Amino acid sequence: MNKPVKILSVAVPVPLSRLFDYRLDENSEELDCNPGQRVWVSFGNRKLVGVIVEINEQSDLELSKIKSVLQLLDPELSIPESLMRLCTWAASYYHYPIGEVFSAAIPALLRSEKPVPIPQITRIALTTEGEQTDPGTITRSPKQQQLLEYLQQNQRCNLSAIQQLSLAGSPLQSLIKKGLAEKLQVDEKFESEDLDTALLAESNLALNSEQQVALDTITQQLDQYRCYLLEGVTGSGKTEVYLQAMEKVLQNGQQVLVLIPEIGLTPQTMSRFQNRFNCPQTVLHSGRTEKQRLRGWQQALSGHAKIVIGTRSAIFTPFANLGLIIIDEEHDASLKQQEGFRYSARDLAITRAHQQKIPVILGSATPCLESLYNADQNRYTKLELTQRAGEASKPVFRVVDLRGRPLDGGMSQPLVQLIRQHIEQNNQVLIFLNRRGFAPVLMCHECGWISECRNCDTRMTLHHSPYYLHCHHCDHKRSVEKQCPECKTKELNPVGLGTERAEQVLQELFPDTPVMRVDRDSTRRKNTFEKMLAEIQTGEPCILIGTQMLAKGHHFPHVTLAAILDADSALYSSDFRGMEKMGQLLTQVAGRAGREKKQGEVAIQTHEPNHPLLHLLFQEGYPSFARELLKERRLTGFPPNGYIALIHAQSTFREKAEELLQTLSDVLPTDPATEVLGPIPSAMERRAGRYRFQLLLRSDSRQTLHTTLNQCLQFFESHKIDRNVRWQLDVDPVELF
Ligand code: ADP
Ligand code: ZN
Ligand code: ZN
Repeated sequence: MNKPVKILSVAVPVPLSRLFDYRLDENSEELDCNPGQRVWVSFGNRKLVGVIVEINEQSDLELSKIKSVLQLLDPELSIPESLMRLCTWAASYYHYPIGEVFSAAIPALLRSEKPVPIPQITRIALTTEGEQTDPGTITRSPKQQQLLEYLQQNQRCNLSAIQQLSLAGSPLQSLIKKGLAEKLQVDEKFESEDLDTALLAESNLALNSEQQVALDTITQQLDQYRCYLLEGVTGSGKTEVYLQAMEKVLQNGQQVLVLIPEIGLTPQTMSRFQNRFNCPQTVLHSGRTEKQRLRGWQQALSGHAKIVIGTRSAIFTPFANLGLIIIDEEHDASLKQQEGFRYSARDLAITRAHQQKIPVILGSATPCLESLYNADQNRYTKLELTQRAGEASKPVFRVVDLRGRPLDGGMSQPLVQLIRQHIEQNNQVLIFLNRRGFAPVLMCHECGWISECRNCDTRMTLHHSPYYLHCHHCDHKRSVEKQCPECKTKELNPVGLGTERAEQVLQELFPDTPVMRVDRDSTRRKNTFEKMLAEIQTGEPCILIGTQMLAKGHHFPHVTLAAILDADSALYSSDFRGMEKMGQLLTQVAGRAGREKKQGEVAIQTHEPNHPLLHLLFQEGYPSFARELLKERRLTGFPPNGYIALIHAQSTFREKAEELLQTLSDVLPTDPATEVLGPIPSAMERRAGRYRFQLLLRSDSRQTLHTTLNQCLQFFESHKIDRNVRWQLDVDPVELF
């Protein structure tokens, strides 16, 4: 009988919060294995790729009941210990099944047992004949002669080297034809290279004194954990501080991870990193192919890529020698995964830095209240940049009182005049409206019928070009009714304002000025956004109308007026973070106006011109505004002055979703330290055909909250749950409803 020699505890991608034991028998070909290595195992009647978490001599189970591992997979693609620790921590903190955490953390190609294709590169080599030919004998073609000489000195060189010499075309073809050279496909190796002396491809800017203080503070102690909150107004030169801190880390031979929000991932941003450093860099985001992602993963793991820039999921990149993490726009909501494994890349980055004993920099013009609070508590070191770099000055704010004023396409007369002034002075104008489409509602003038979505408790948005109705929540599309389905009259009117309609109205008001719309619809086609950006950079007068896409990250030096058409929807938001988000957005939009030498203006249209928080924001800026909001949070016990989690349930049957949460809430031990609120319906109760309910847990203590969450998990695992109901936990949710 075979005696099992090793018991492997494996994280298998199934929705259960535990590891599973498998055995590795003596007659297996390979006995050598390591935690982090992938294995192919059978689970029920499926075969899955899991990750070894522990290796033991014994198991609590009877040996005969333990299945054998089907296959150990490529040890070179094992998850390093540092990333294992992060994933294990994440599984426990987010109460998410550990096997699914690992599965989410690795590139899709590693979720299969199939051998990973090793990328090939082309090398040019000489044949024996080529080695022995005297280049002097090729008299008729100096270029072929030059190439042969080059190849004799540089055996097996990269094709790119020959391309740089402009010899890759016909000279190379000729040598191949003559049987002197050949093309070879070889495995690409991701070896770590020592950087040559010239790390900087362009020189650093001379820092102003605030930047210098920030840089010195960060680089003083690069060999230990510390979280730095770099709070700097838009245009104050945060990126320059990042770049110079990175330089020090790279010089120490270490790698850097830079996380940026989805919207910030523009060619403009990328090129600032690429232009500064001469070293292998990798970009990881959802737009990459699976092969590219795997390649980036391997390059970081081997130490070859020195800089990894990516969106939220890049926090799970393995590194050979990570030395610094930077999170730009740390307040951005896209850093939180909002479905499935709901993690915060910002919070994971801080945990990772702590685990790996390295510094982490959180940068923002408008830090989230959690980070400001942590800085107040001295958990983070706050560094401030208060001056805009260069000669730019602070914008002037104007509140446009909408009460009693007629609107044309959402624009009041004073705003139209303001736009006109700026255009006449040959400047650019940016108008912000966070609603795409033509109009949010189509309504019958006769009977009040409204274009509702059949799957959701919401209205279908009317789009004009092309002409159709679209639900932005479940993606349902349908053609526009020719007459009212209720009363059959033809008086169907668009109500409300979207970017498409605002664009139309602006173009009518300013027929001689180009109006450009920037939203997810207008930029769907590849490169359209880049083309628009290029046109904007020319500096010709134009009007830009768009959604959030316009508010962040871009550098528009010729914009002198930024206008917010509708501040009210944020002022009346029911989310506890509504005000915070509005303040961040207004500040970001304001940061677009008046960069470089031109004085900027910011106009806000509202029915509540005397709102004290708006005034605080405009007169004293985001820091004072945030301080006021923190006071409110202290009274309500919401984050950062308390901890919350949401439990979601959804079902095609209303009662079933509600009932599951009710039962849970009934069985939870009544611990006065954790408040349980609900179940209540989600703000949009029915979405994509499913009814949604939620239970809110709140506690003053993180530990107490997590004890309660463990009890919830026990309930879900022991309770027989109707197959029609799905549930999910969201720890530290960013959106409550
Ligand atoms: P932020 O990231 O804070 O929005 P940026 O780093 O994009 O700011 O800087 C805004 C502009 O100021 C950029 O064009 C940048 O090159 C320039 N800049 C930054 N620091 C300096 C400096 N020390 N001296 C001169 N120009 C600077
Ligand atoms: Zn009608
Ligand atoms: Zn819908």
